[in-house]
Amino acid sequence: MSANIIDGKAFAATVRQKVASKVADLKETHSIIPGLAVVLVGEDPASQVYVRSKGKQTIEVGMNSFEHKLGVDTSEEVLLALIDELNADPSVHGILVQLPLPSHVDESLVTNHIAPEKDVDGFHIANVGLLGTGQQSMVPCTPLGCLLMLRDYHGSLSGKNAVVIGRSNIVGKPMAQLLLNESCTVTIAHSRTKDLADVVRRADIVVAAVGRPEMVPGDWIKPGATVIDVGINRVDAGDSKTKLVGDVDYASCAAAAGAITPVPGGVGPMTIACLLANTVTACCRINNVSGEDFLL
Ligand code: NDP
Repeated sequence: MSANIIDGKAFAATVRQKVASKVADLKETHSIIPGLAVVLVGEDPASQVYVRSKGKQTIEVGMNSFEHKLGVDTSEEVLLALIDELNADPSVHGILVQLPLPSHVDESLVTNHIAPEKDVDGFHIANVGLLGTGQQSMVPCTPLGCLLMLRDYHGSLSGKNAVVIGRSNIVGKPMAQLLLNESCTVTIAHSRTKDLADVVRRADIVVAAVGRPEMVPGDWIKPGATVIDVGINRVDAGDSKTKLVGDVDYASCAAAAGAITPVPGGVGPMTIACLLANTVTACCRINNVSGEDFLL
């Protein structure tokens, strides 16, 4: 068997198109331009790349992008004061504080300082609680991207056995919650799970969010299952070169699976597309404008 490849890059382009057309509609019909503020503290090179890419894509879909770059020594007080300003600014509908933050700053304090309705990362405790109780919330971008691809490929997910490997607050737990809300039977596996191979073999849907290169081999995959690989791991490719690989061994998993996301070009591109989509959703809700279901 050779799996269907779920092309996250192409799917993300479709999501961005839907976002751009909703943005145009908001401008024309309501004279509103959605705005996304991204706050970067320090000069972590990977974070700088993400923030640049977010700003560029925000502008490409017609939204306003506000970038706030603060020095690595910025105090918690100054950062919280900036968030207060952004919370009160009517031209800002989404606020994202790029993680990780320097160690002298309390990440959860900062995350929970963002107004929940502008929390486009979906990390605020209020949004976590709303998602956990199946209510309308802002949904973390990476799991949302995975869900959109799964829904697009399968239609209904109801009754499927889903195994999420990883229980982080930003990927594993919200992913499991989303799948539960879709009426999947969900198992969350983690580093203490006994006989992970056996657990994964029962899954119709496997979401790997572990951070260990190519950890899941093909003989763990039930024939025909769908594999969503969230992992982004940079590994040695010889000749002083590096390459990106996921958390699953792509070749052997693709041989067993019915469908699989590649790395790169799978979940990664969907994350920023979903950030843009969340900003439009937040903008619609804040302004009481209908049509936040523009992605459907
Ligand atoms: P974390 O390190 O926060 O969590 C990893 C999880 O994997 C933990 O729950 C851990 O278990 C579990 N784990 C570790 N080792 C094993 C093992 N041997 N067997 C089973 N479970 C194990 O990572 P994140 O959730 O933040 O990220 C996961 C991956 O996804 C990373 O590669 C990251 O780069 C990538 N990522 C990709 C994104 C994208 O846009 N595509 C966005 C975010 C992340 P325990 O809790 O017991 O320690």
